[in-house]
Amino acid sequence: MPDRIVQELTAIVGPDAILYKKEDLLAYECDGYTIHKGLSRAVVFPSTTEEVAAVVKYLHNKKIPFIPRGAGTGLSGGATPLGGEVIISLVRMKKLLHVDLENRLAVVQPGFVNLKLTHSISHKGYYYAPDPSSQYACTIGGNVAENAGGAHCLKYGVTTNHVLGLEVVLSDGKVVEIGGVPDAPGYDLVGLLTGSEGTLGIVTKIIVRILKNPEAKRTVLAYFDTVEAASYTVSDIIAAGIVPAALEMMDTVAIQGVEAGTYPVVHPPGIKALLLAEVDGIAAGIDEQVERIVGICEKRGVVDVKVARDEKEHMRWWANRKTAFAAMGSISPDYLVQDGVIPRSRLPEVLAEIQTISERSGLRIANVFHAGDGNLHPLILFDARKPGEAELAVRVGSEVLKVCADVGGTITGEHGVGIEKKEEMRYVFSEEEIEAQIQIREVFNPENLLNPDKLFPTPGRCAEVKKGRQ
Ligand SMILES: Cc1cc2nc3c(=O)[nH]c(=O)nc-3n(C[C@H](O)[C@H](O)[C@H](O)COP(=O)(O)OP(=O)(O)OC[C@H]3O[C@@H](n4cnc5c(N)ncnc54)[C@H](O)[C@@H]3O)c2cc1C
Repeated sequence: MPDRIVQELTAIVGPDAILYKKEDLLAYECDGYTIHKGLSRAVVFPSTTEEVAAVVKYLHNKKIPFIPRGAGTGLSGGATPLGGEVIISLVRMKKLLHVDLENRLAVVQPGFVNLKLTHSISHKGYYYAPDPSSQYACTIGGNVAENAGGAHCLKYGVTTNHVLGLEVVLSDGKVVEIGGVPDAPGYDLVGLLTGSEGTLGIVTKIIVRILKNPEAKRTVLAYFDTVEAASYTVSDIIAAGIVPAALEMMDTVAIQGVEAGTYPVVHPPGIKALLLAEVDGIAAGIDEQVERIVGICEKRGVVDVKVARDEKEHMRWWANRKTAFAAMGSISPDYLVQDGVIPRSRLPEVLAEIQTISERSGLRIANVFHAGDGNLHPLILFDARKPGEAELAVRVGSEVLKVCADVGGTITGEHGVGIEKKEEMRYVFSEEEIEAQIQIREVFNPENLLNPDKLFPTPGRCAEVKKGRQ
């Protein structure tokens, strides 16, 4: 028998738009960060902004915490319940509302899947640039909340550089529109909301920038027999003034994973690292950029370097890279993705340090990452069935992030803090800096009902606990 809260929520969204039975809620007990799980009170599926606002107003009045959720592909526990929250799933709000080619923008609902936007406009010669590897599943609302990046964000920027305006349901149920006009006066609230991990408001409409397809592109694949040589090549390419659209790297463990996965490319045996570089732009000069990249690879002793012969080969190389995380399932029962950022010039020493951590802990670590912008993704391979190994993987992940922070980097490039990296926020912020951010949250989310207790380390919570949230 549904409780009164469920009955009243049902009255708002309708009986086919709510889940509350334990067996149904299990599917929502975590996101892609599967180490932490929790049970929500219910999951609702509103279809309109008005329904989102009515649900939020109701929960706010009842002092019941709630969590916005997109596709649940997040990798830091952002959409994971801690226990007893109502999940507000945006997946039924999945329309492409408007495309304005003249002004190069599109308006989407939050549940619209990232890759569908490019698919909807590519026949007109346009695309949406932010391309997380999960783009076939993740939603643009989730991308805004996480300020998602992707392989092609090196040249074109991450999600925040492509969001022009937002419609947002605030934590008390009020609806506001922010941005949407060029150079709007006042605070940059679109910038503030983007990357706020669902703690400042629920995004219900997004205006995004769309780009014209580049006239030409070329993809280069280069193999190295040391990780150092590949790392120095990355620095050399950028130092030469070339800005590739993408510059990705995989080490030997990652290569073993993708070769066992769904899109093998048959990389040469014994390779210690590969680089995948894409250049794009106007056709004149593109071949010269490729020649310069090949020349830099040769100076660093590349074992083999080749240019994709056609679109099919280009797509295959990219599928090999973009399915790398999932491919780890072929070589390990479990893996934990980390997301540190470092100055590019420190790549060789940080990768060596990660190797040392791997040997010391006995856990294999595969590195597959956006090398051009120094965004590392060490994949820590473990077996959760072995007692203590999941906890060890978490400790190893934290150690890796400390190394990144210590060389002047940071603890997340694109996957967010969520539950996973709350404590690691201390590696990069002082207590005062964390407190300043909590004060901003208190303006938008004064009772910490909206995605509570994410993003900031636990002592930052004392203030809200004292205020007596139910
Ligand atoms: C295989 C794989 C590869 C990945 N590759 C990348 C990558 O290359 N780059 C990258 O950046 N990420 C990557 N990710 C992580 C993930 O896909 C992104 O963080 C993505 O933006 C999450 O979108 P989602 O719709 O799944 O959001 P969810 O996981 O559902 O939610 C993520 C966060 O956003 C909040 N949220 C969701 N919708 C809204 C909304 N409408 N309003 C306010 N807050 C909201 C949630 O509360 C949560 O905190 C990858 C994940 C996987 C599984």
